Amino acid sequence: MTEPETGPHTPRRRSRTQLAVTGEQTTSLREVRRAVFFDRDGTLIRDVGYIKDPDQVELVPQAASVVRAINYALWAAIVVTNQSGIARGLLTELDYLAVKARVDDLLAERGAYVEAHYHCPHHPDFTGPCACRKPGTALYDLAAAEHAISLAESVWVGDRWRDIAPALHYGGQGILIPSATTPPEEIERARQEATVAPSLLDAVHLILHA
Ligand SMILES: [Mg+2]
Ligand SMILES: [Zn+2]
Repeated sequence: MTEPETGPHTPRRRSRTQLAVTGEQTTSLREVRRAVFFDRDGTLIRDVGYIKDPDQVELVPQAASVVRAINYALWAAIVVTNQSGIARGLLTELDYLAVKARVDDLLAERGAYVEAHYHCPHHPDFTGPCACRKPGTALYDLAAAEHAISLAESVWVGDRWRDIAPALHYGGQGILIPSATTPPEEIERARQEATVAPSLLDAVHLILHA
Protein backbone atom coordinates (compact mmCIF):
# COMPACT_ATOMS: atom_id res chain seq x y z
CA MET A 1 0.00 0.00 0.00
CA THR A 2 1.45 3.32 -1.01
CA GLU A 3 0.27 6.71 0.02
CA PRO A 4 1.57 10.14 -0.84
CA GLU A 5 3.63 11.59 1.95
CA THR A 6 1.95 14.93 1.67
CA GLY A 7 -0.84 16.49 -0.27
CA PRO A 8 -4.01 18.45 0.14
CA HIS A 9 -6.02 15.38 1.10
CA THR A 10 -3.43 13.71 3.28
CA PRO A 11 -4.58 13.51 6.90
CA ARG A 12 -2.61 15.77 9.17
CA ARG A 13 -1.42 12.77 11.11
CA ARG A 14 -1.81 9.30 9.74
CA SER A 15 -2.85 7.31 12.77
CA ARG A 16 -0.47 4.71 14.03
CA THR A 17 -3.45 2.38 14.23
CA GLN A 18 -3.73 2.52 10.44
CA LEU A 19 -0.04 1.77 10.16
CA ALA A 20 -0.48 -1.26 12.39
CA VAL A 21 -3.44 -2.49 10.36
CA THR A 22 -1.54 -2.22 7.10
CA GLY A 23 1.39 -4.11 8.59
CA GLU A 24 3.86 -1.28 8.24
CA GLN A 25 4.56 -1.61 11.92
CA THR A 26 4.43 -4.67 14.08
CA THR A 27 3.02 -2.73 17.01
CA SER A 28 -0.16 -4.23 18.36
CA LEU A 29 -3.39 -2.30 18.18
CA ARG A 30 -3.55 -2.17 21.94
CA GLU A 31 -0.43 -0.05 22.06
CA VAL A 32 -1.66 2.65 19.73
CA ARG A 33 -5.27 3.38 20.56
CA ARG A 34 -6.87 6.74 20.53
CA ALA A 35 -9.56 7.61 23.02
CA VAL A 36 -12.58 9.81 23.24
CA PHE A 37 -12.78 11.07 26.81
CA PHE A 38 -16.41 11.78 27.50
CA ASP A 39 -17.69 13.88 30.35
CA ARG A 40 -20.66 12.06 31.85
CA ASP A 41 -23.25 14.35 33.48
CA GLY A 42 -24.66 16.78 30.94
CA THR A 43 -22.83 15.06 28.10
CA LEU A 44 -23.78 11.36 27.99
CA ILE A 45 -26.59 11.48 30.56
CA ARG A 46 -28.95 14.23 31.60
CA ASP A 47 -27.47 16.35 34.35
CA VAL A 48 -29.86 16.23 37.29
CA GLY A 49 -27.27 17.48 39.79
CA TYR A 50 -25.32 15.14 42.09
CA ILE A 51 -27.10 12.12 40.71
CA LYS A 52 -27.15 9.25 43.23
CA ASP A 53 -30.13 7.14 42.19
CA PRO A 54 -29.69 4.79 39.22
CA ASP A 55 -33.37 5.28 38.40
CA GLN A 56 -32.57 8.91 37.57
CA VAL A 57 -30.14 7.95 34.83
CA GLU A 58 -31.33 8.97 31.39
CA LEU A 59 -29.05 8.83 28.37
CA VAL A 60 -29.08 11.89 26.17
CA PRO A 61 -30.70 10.95 22.85
CA GLN A 62 -27.55 10.42 20.78
CA ALA A 63 -25.31 9.00 23.50
CA ALA A 64 -25.59 5.32 22.65
CA SER A 65 -25.20 5.70 18.89
CA VAL A 66 -22.23 8.01 19.35
CA VAL A 67 -20.45 5.68 21.79
CA ARG A 68 -21.22 2.77 19.45
CA ALA A 69 -19.68 4.66 16.54
CA ILE A 70 -16.55 5.22 18.62
CA ASN A 71 -16.53 1.49 19.48
CA TYR A 72 -16.74 0.49 15.83
CA ALA A 73 -13.93 2.87 14.96
CA LEU A 74 -11.78 1.00 17.52
CA TRP A 75 -11.18 4.09 19.58
CA ALA A 76 -11.49 3.69 23.34
CA ALA A 77 -14.60 5.35 24.77
CA ILE A 78 -13.69 6.47 28.28
CA VAL A 79 -15.73 8.46 30.80
CA VAL A 80 -14.04 10.91 33.15
CA THR A 81 -16.32 12.64 35.63
CA ASN A 82 -16.02 15.06 38.53
CA GLN A 83 -18.19 13.74 41.37
CA SER A 84 -17.78 16.37 44.05
CA GLY A 85 -21.10 15.22 45.50
CA ILE A 86 -19.03 12.53 47.21
CA ALA A 87 -16.81 15.13 48.92
CA ARG A 88 -19.92 17.11 49.81
CA GLY A 89 -21.52 14.09 51.47
CA LEU A 90 -24.41 14.07 49.01
CA LEU A 91 -23.64 10.65 47.63
CA THR A 92 -21.40 7.75 48.46
CA GLU A 93 -18.94 5.78 46.39
CA LEU A 94 -21.54 3.00 46.33
CA ASP A 95 -24.13 5.41 44.93
CA TYR A 96 -21.63 6.42 42.29
CA LEU A 97 -20.97 2.79 41.39
CA ALA A 98 -24.70 2.07 41.11
CA VAL A 99 -25.20 5.03 38.77
CA LYS A 100 -22.18 3.99 36.72
CA ALA A 101 -23.56 0.47 36.39
CA ARG A 102 -26.88 1.85 35.20
CA VAL A 103 -25.13 3.99 32.58
CA ASP A 104 -23.29 0.89 31.36
CA ASP A 105 -26.51 -1.15 31.28
CA LEU A 106 -28.40 1.46 29.27
CA LEU A 107 -25.54 1.73 26.81
CA ALA A 108 -25.21 -2.05 26.55
CA GLU A 109 -28.92 -2.37 25.72
CA ARG A 110 -28.09 -0.28 22.68
CA GLY A 111 -24.89 -2.07 21.78
CA ALA A 112 -22.53 0.59 23.10
CA TYR A 113 -19.58 0.08 25.42
CA VAL A 114 -17.60 2.40 27.63
CA GLU A 115 -14.20 0.86 28.22
CA ALA A 116 -13.58 2.54 31.57
CA HIS A 117 -15.03 5.13 33.91
CA TYR A 118 -12.83 7.35 36.05
CA HIS A 119 -14.10 9.76 38.66
CA CYS A 120 -12.76 12.40 41.01
CA PRO A 121 -14.61 12.23 44.35
CA HIS A 122 -13.02 15.41 45.69
CA HIS A 123 -13.74 19.09 45.95
CA PRO A 124 -11.13 21.61 47.08
CA ASP A 125 -13.51 23.24 49.60
CA PHE A 126 -14.21 19.94 51.32
CA THR A 127 -11.24 17.66 50.74
CA GLY A 128 -8.45 20.01 49.69
CA PRO A 129 -6.70 20.23 46.37
CA CYS A 130 -6.31 17.13 44.23
CA ALA A 131 -4.76 16.30 40.89
CA CYS A 132 -7.74 14.40 39.53
CA ARG A 133 -10.57 16.95 39.51
CA LYS A 134 -11.01 18.22 35.95
CA PRO A 135 -9.32 20.21 34.49
CA GLY A 136 -6.65 18.31 36.41
CA THR A 137 -5.06 15.62 34.31
CA ALA A 138 -4.26 12.79 36.74
CA LEU A 139 -7.16 10.62 35.57
CA TYR A 140 -6.12 10.94 31.93
CA ASP A 141 -2.58 9.95 32.77
CA LEU A 142 -4.01 6.96 34.63
CA ALA A 143 -6.31 6.04 31.74
CA ALA A 144 -3.44 6.31 29.29
CA ALA A 145 -1.35 3.98 31.42
CA GLU A 146 -4.13 1.46 32.03
CA HIS A 147 -5.53 1.42 28.50
CA ALA A 148 -2.47 2.27 26.42
CA ILE A 149 -3.92 5.47 25.01
CA SER A 150 -2.09 7.97 22.85
CA LEU A 151 -3.22 11.17 24.54
CA ALA A 152 -1.93 13.53 21.86
CA GLU A 153 -4.18 11.74 19.34
CA SER A 154 -7.22 11.65 21.59
CA VAL A 155 -10.34 13.79 21.84
CA TRP A 156 -12.09 15.36 24.82
CA VAL A 157 -15.85 15.91 24.72
CA GLY A 158 -17.90 17.69 27.36
CA ASP A 159 -20.27 20.49 28.25
CA ARG A 160 -17.86 22.52 30.40
CA TRP A 161 -14.53 24.08 29.59
CA ARG A 162 -12.84 22.03 32.30
CA ASP A 163 -13.86 18.86 30.42
CA ILE A 164 -11.99 19.83 27.29
CA ALA A 165 -9.14 21.93 28.71
CA PRO A 166 -6.97 18.78 29.09
CA ALA A 167 -6.96 18.48 25.29
CA LEU A 168 -4.83 21.62 25.15
CA HIS A 169 -2.46 20.17 27.75
CA TYR A 170 -1.88 17.00 25.74
CA GLY A 171 -2.10 18.42 22.23
CA GLY A 172 -5.32 16.56 21.50
CA GLN A 173 -8.66 17.86 20.28
CA GLY A 174 -11.32 19.38 22.52
CA ILE A 175 -14.98 19.60 21.54
CA LEU A 176 -17.45 21.50 23.70
CA ILE A 177 -21.10 20.59 23.37
CA PRO A 178 -22.98 23.32 25.19
CA SER A 179 -25.73 22.24 27.56
CA ALA A 180 -28.32 24.38 29.32
CA THR A 181 -25.85 25.02 32.12
CA THR A 182 -22.74 25.87 30.08
CA PRO A 183 -21.62 29.43 30.90
CA PRO A 184 -21.50 31.62 27.77
CA GLU A 185 -17.89 32.62 28.44
CA GLU A 186 -16.90 28.95 28.32
CA ILE A 187 -18.58 28.56 24.94
CA GLU A 188 -16.72 31.61 23.69
CA ARG A 189 -13.42 30.30 25.01
CA ALA A 190 -14.01 26.96 23.32
CA ARG A 191 -14.75 28.75 20.04
CA GLN A 192 -11.39 30.49 20.32
CA GLU A 193 -9.19 27.72 21.67
CA ALA A 194 -10.95 24.46 20.80
CA THR A 195 -14.10 23.45 18.92
CA VAL A 196 -17.81 23.87 19.63
CA ALA A 197 -20.31 21.34 18.28
CA PRO A 198 -24.08 21.64 18.56
CA SER A 199 -24.61 17.99 19.46
CA LEU A 200 -22.89 14.71 20.26
CA LEU A 201 -23.65 13.52 16.76
CA ASP A 202 -21.91 16.53 15.26
CA ALA A 203 -18.98 15.90 17.56
CA VAL A 204 -18.57 12.30 16.46
CA HIS A 205 -18.64 13.36 12.82
CA LEU A 206 -15.84 15.79 13.59
CA ILE A 207 -13.89 13.04 15.33
CA LEU A 208 -14.29 10.22 12.85
CA HIS A 209 -14.59 12.08 9.55
CA ALA A 210 -12.14 14.93 10.09
MG1 LIG B 1 -20.94 17.88 32.48
ZN1 LIG C 1 -9.80 14.48 42.79
